[in-house]
Amino acid sequence: MNAEPSPAVDPGGCAHCGLPERGHARQWTEQAGWHAWVHPSPEQTHRRLRERRAARSDAPA
Ligand SMILES: [Zn+2]
Repeated sequence: MNAEPSPAVDPGGCAHCGLPERGHARQWTEQAGWHAWVHPSPEQTHRRLRERRAARSDAPA
C-alpha cells in the first residue's frame, strides 16, 4: 500500500500530502482527510529524499 505522495514532492513538505507549508492552508487526502500542514518526521523527509534520488537515477548525472 502506497500512502505516500509521488516522489516529486518537497521532502520537507506536509506529512500527509507533501505540499510545502507555505500555501498549504487546508488540504484533503484519502488517508488524512481535511488537515492543516503537518511537519513531516525526520524519517519521512529522509525517505522522500531517497525516493527523489531514486526517481532521478535514470537521468544523466
Ligand atoms: Zn497536507
